[in-house]
Amino acid sequence: MDGIFDMLILGAGPAGISAALTAHARGRSALVLSSDPMNTPLARAPRIDNYPGLPGMSGRELLAAMGESLEEQGISRVTGRATAVAPFGGTFMVSAEQDVYRARTLILAVGAQQGAKPFPGEAELLGRGVSYCATCDGMLYRGKRVAVLGLGAAGEKDAAFLERVGCQVLYLGPTQAKKCEIKGTDRVTGLVADGEEYPVEGVFILRDTVAASVLLPGLAMEGGHITVGADMAASVPGVFAAGDCTGRPYQIARAVGQGNIAALAADAYMRKEQEKQK
Ligand SMILES: Cc1cc2nc3c(=O)[nH]c(=O)nc-3n(C[C@H](O)[C@H](O)[C@H](O)COP(=O)(O)OP(=O)(O)OC[C@H]3O[C@@H](n4cnc5c(N)ncnc54)[C@H](O)[C@@H]3O)c2cc1C
Repeated sequence: MDGIFDMLILGAGPAGISAALTAHARGRSALVLSSDPMNTPLARAPRIDNYPGLPGMSGRELLAAMGESLEEQGISRVTGRATAVAPFGGTFMVSAEQDVYRARTLILAVGAQQGAKPFPGEAELLGRGVSYCATCDGMLYRGKRVAVLGLGAAGEKDAAFLERVGCQVLYLGPTQAKKCEIKGTDRVTGLVADGEEYPVEGVFILRDTVAASVLLPGLAMEGGHITVGADMAASVPGVFAAGDCTGRPYQIARAVGQGNIAALAADAYMRKEQEKQK
C-alpha cells in the first residue's frame, strides 16, 4: 500500500463498523478512526431489543461484539478524535490530534453529534485562537490566558496539561458553559460564557466530536444532519455519510444499513475515478 487508504471511516459506531466490513469484503483497504467508541450514546443503552439476532444484549456488549468483527477481519482501527479534513490532490487528509491519515474516500459515521453545534465565532476563529487540541496547540499559548470548554471526556485532563505547559487556564465544564460566544475579529480576544465576558487569547473547545460542517467546510448540511443522496454520497465528491449523522430515526439497524450502502458507493466511486484515469 502507498500509505493511502481506500476508505477512511470516521466513527466506530454501528454505521462505521458496517462500512468497514463492507469495504473489506470488497477488497478495499479501510481505516476506522474513532474517539473512544465506549464513550458514545449506544454504550449507555441498557438493553437492545430491536436488533435482529442478538437478544438481550446491552449497547456496550453490542459495540464490543461489533469491534470484534473488525479485529477478526484484520481491519485497521485507531483511537483518536478527528479535528479537520482537507481535500488534497484527489484524496483526503484527516488530522486527529497529532496524527494525519490519508484516504481516497471518506465515510463520515460520526453519530448524531448532539452538542456539537458550533458556538458563534467558533468556525470563523478556528486556527486563530480557537483550537480543538490542547496537546497540539498548547505550547503556542504558554504564559497566556486561555479558556477551556471541557465538553467531552478529555476536558479536565487537557486543562491540566495546559496548566503544566504554563497557560493561565479558565476551565468551564459541561454544565458551566451552556451559552458561549467567542469574540474577536482577526484573533480571539475573549469568551462570553452565560453572559459573562472573559478576556482570553485562546479558547480550547474539547468535545468528543467536531461538527461535520466544521470538520469539512463546505459540506452541505440540513437541520444539523449531513445531506446525502440515496447512495449516501454527500455534497463533496468522494465523501459519503451514514448513520445518525444523516438524520432520523436514530436506530442501529438504519445505521448498519447505511454504512453498508456508503461503502458500496465509495467502492463504485473509486472504480469510476480509476477508469477516468485510463
Ligand atoms: C440510551 C440510548 C439507547 C438506545 N437504544 C437503542 C435501541 O434499543 N435500539 C436502536 O436501534 N437504537 C438505540 N439507540 C440509538 C443508537 O444508539 C444509534 O442510532 C446508533 O448508535 C447510531 O450509530 P452511528 O454509528 O450512526 O453513531 P454512533 O453510535 O453515535 O457512533 C458514532 C461514532 O463516531 C465517533 N466520532 C464522532 N465524532 C468523531 C470525531 N470527530 N473523530 C473521531 N470519532 C468521532 C464516536 O466516538 C462514535 O464512535 C439508543 C441510543 C441511546 C442514547
